Order: sequence, then C-alpha cells, then structure tokens
Amino acid sequence: MCLKNREHSKLIMSLLFLIVLFAACKDLPKVETEQAATVEKRPNIIIIMADDLGYADVGFNGSTEITTPELDKLAANGMKFTSGYVAHPFCGPSRAALMTGRYPHTIGSQFNLPASSEAYGSSGITISETFISKMLQNAGYYTGAIGKWHLGDVPKYHPNNRGFQEFYGFLGGGHDYFPEDYTVKFAKQKASGQKFIFDYVKPLEHNKNVVSNPTEYLTDELSRKAVDFVNTASEKKNPFFLYLAYNAPHVPLQAKKEDMQMFSHIKDKDRRTYAAMVYAVDRGVGKLVESLKANNVLDNTLIVFLSDNGGKLTKGANNYPLKEGKGSTAEGGYRVPMFFHYPNEIESNSIFNYPITTLDFYPTFAALAKAEIPEDKILDGKNVWQSVVALENPRKDDYVFVMRHREGYTDVGVRQNQWKALKTKQQTWRLFNIDRDMGEEHDLSEQHMGQLKTMVKAAEKWSKTHSEPLWFDPESLSVDWEEKEMAKFNKTFKLDVK
Ligand code: CA
Repeated sequence: MCLKNREHSKLIMSLLFLIVLFAACKDLPKVETEQAATVEKRPNIIIIMADDLGYADVGFNGSTEITTPELDKLAANGMKFTSGYVAHPFCGPSRAALMTGRYPHTIGSQFNLPASSEAYGSSGITISETFISKMLQNAGYYTGAIGKWHLGDVPKYHPNNRGFQEFYGFLGGGHDYFPEDYTVKFAKQKASGQKFIFDYVKPLEHNKNVVSNPTEYLTDELSRKAVDFVNTASEKKNPFFLYLAYNAPHVPLQAKKEDMQMFSHIKDKDRRTYAAMVYAVDRGVGKLVESLKANNVLDNTLIVFLSDNGGKLTKGANNYPLKEGKGSTAEGGYRVPMFFHYPNEIESNSIFNYPITTLDFYPTFAALAKAEIPEDKILDGKNVWQSVVALENPRKDDYVFVMRHREGYTDVGVRQNQWKALKTKQQTWRLFNIDRDMGEEHDLSEQHMGQLKTMVKAAEKWSKTHSEPLWFDPESLSVDWEEKEMAKFNKTFKLDVK
C-alpha cells in the first residue's frame, strides 16, 4: 500500500509538473501576443496644417465672426494649446522645422525656398536630415502627404523620397484654388514660351504624375484625397501618418460663392473671402473625421491641428490679442491656433497653457509610434507627451527661440516660462510677462533687467549653433547678408541699457 501510495504520489507530481510546464509553454506565445497588441495600439497620427491662419480666426480661440464648427468640436473633445509655437514666422522654414525637428537656422533653411528651384539651382531641405515621415515610415507607418510641400521640388527632395508613400498636391509655396482658372493660366504661360512657369498655376500631381482634368475647388479636392487616404490606410495592418497641409487661407484669396454667402455680414471683401476659405477647411476636416469614424479608427488617432505661422493682417487675418502677424517675432507671427484630439489618451476639454513647439513633434511622435530615432539625429525639441497628459510644464526654465532675418538686420523672440523677450525693427530689446500680457504691451525690461539679460545671452548662445543659409529669398538678401554682416549679430544681441 505504502509503495503504491508513493508511486501514486510520484504520478501526481509528474502530472502536476507537466501541467505547470504546459501552462508555462502556453504563456510564451501569450507574451508575444501582448507585445504585438502593444505595437498595434500605436496611434495613427494626422497633422492638419492650415497656412497663414490667424490665432483668433477659429471658433475654439473665440472667433464669432468666422465659424469653424468641426474644428471647435475636435478642440472641445481634446486639448487646446494656448501657447503653441511654430519655429519660424513664415512658411518654408516653419515646415522645415516640423519635418526635421531642428530650428531652420541650424540646417541652412532660414529662408523660403525660391519660387522656382529651376531658376535658382534646385534647392531643398538638406538630405542628411531624416524627416519625421521617414522616421515613422521606418517604424512601419503607412505615410501620406497631401497639399502644399514647399521643401524642395526636384526629385531628391520630393515627398515620395522623404518618407511619404503617397503624395497628392503641389511642390511650391502656394497654389491657385479654381482649376477652371489655373489650368487656363498654365496653358497660356506654357504657350507663351516663358522660361519659368509660376508655381501657383502648375498642375497638381499624384506621386510624380500630373493630375489631368482637375474639377474641384482646391481645398475640397485636398479634403477628398485625405478621406481616400484614410479609407485605404485603415484597411492596412499598420498604423498611418497623414500630413494634410492645406494652403488655405494663404493668398490668393479665392473662395467659393456659396461659402462667401455664409459670411455676407463681413463688409471687407478680403476678410469675407478669407473667412470663406477657412470655412472650407473646416468642412474638409469634418469629412475627414467622418471617415475616421466610419473606419472605426477615430479614438486611436492623434489629430494635431495648427497653422504654419501667424495670420497675415493685410490679407484678412486676425491674431487678436497677439501682436502683429505673419513674419513677425512678436507673438502674432509664430504663436498659432493649435489642438490635439486623441480620445484614447487625451481627456476632453483640456487646456494646455505651457509653451510647446512644433520642434517637439518629432521626438514626441517617435515615442508614441515606438519608432527609432536615427542615432546621429540632433533634435531641438523634446518628447513632451508625459507633460502634456499630466498638464505639466515640459520645459521649465528652458527656452523657445524664434528668429527672422530682414533686409540688413534680424528680429528675435525668446520665451522662457512666463517671460518673452522681443527684438524687432531695430528697436531696443523689450521684456513682457506673456502670461499676463499676451499682447506684448507693457515693457518690463527696466524692472527685470537681469531676466532680460539672461534671455538675450541665451539667444546669442543659440545663434552660435546656426549654419549659413543654403539659399536666400529674395536672392538679393545674399548681398545684405554679407555686406551688412547680418549673421554676425553685432547689433542684434547688443543690450542697450536705458
Ligand atoms: Ca504660411
């Protein structure tokens, strides 16, 4: 009996061991499945960039004159940024910074690319900089760019060669909106035999092929293509990245009649046209959101909305209460309307008041996408995700710089915590408490000279990381650059004490 019992116990022990072993082995593929699930949870990322849109020209920033119901819904269901900055107050350098995660001055992209690179030597954003799109593509994302490019128009700088599987749009710095007009203008310019055809009337393209017989108002066409992209991308196993760069409401001010009628209460024609152009963008965003919902991917998609720089005050825009507009280093030039919408991770009705910059997008999206950043990649921003979600300051005591070269001199802006130091129009440096004084009205430089000195010194140190421009726009600035010693900053960082 005793022996039998012992054998019986052995048998039970062996069975137990086998059961444990089986359970352990069964767990192995489970772990792998969990890892796969984590990877699959990576969000889709959509950047919707408007062009020259004013800070005050969206409902979510208080506009009652221009209605943007679709954008407002997204902002209300997500996080609005009140201190969202771009890295430059006009188009080309701002976009170069977004794509590379670098201040444009550090990679020779301080100026807009010339209107036609054929005329000025085939320039583009330096190839040694891996674009955010390429980084995400390398991590398995399906990538698309729709709309305005403005980062180089010869093959090596083409979006299809910089990390975008899909491209639909135009390569220059802007475009006319009505195909019945721009196709005729293009045909005329071509027939006249003129050497360089204006970028704004060139045919749209899809992956290097000319789009023949376009029929739609451009903003509507870009929106439709964005919907097509989402429909295709949602069928794929991997997440997607979409860069939807509307050229609206950038000039030429051209809007549809029915959209203009929506704003008949606005007397100024430029303002009325501009409002109608913004409304068309809003309609397109609504359609894009519908497609995300229909594909059941809205909750796991991070939608980032912003403008590439401030609104142009002479072309219908309003940046109130920010001072000045496009091109300026005052807040109106580079502090832009911005929100994140991402239901799975961001609570609705969130407001983020600390400064973030588009330079942060590269490292932040890389982290969300679990993507590898190239080892030698220099990044001027930081991964702000944890701070954003926790509503904490991601850059306490750290700086956000902006610099704009003018004809023979340089404007600068420096943000640190609640402070903004400003140098414009060859005036002396001024200092504002930007939390209390968004309009940069009350100069506090005399009361806080130590703070101002620290900020100017930091900006001067930063300026020593800059490279020579790879091109100038207009080309005549190359003469000013040399003869007026624009980049030697002997006057820019001189702090005249009153
Ligand atoms: Ca712009």
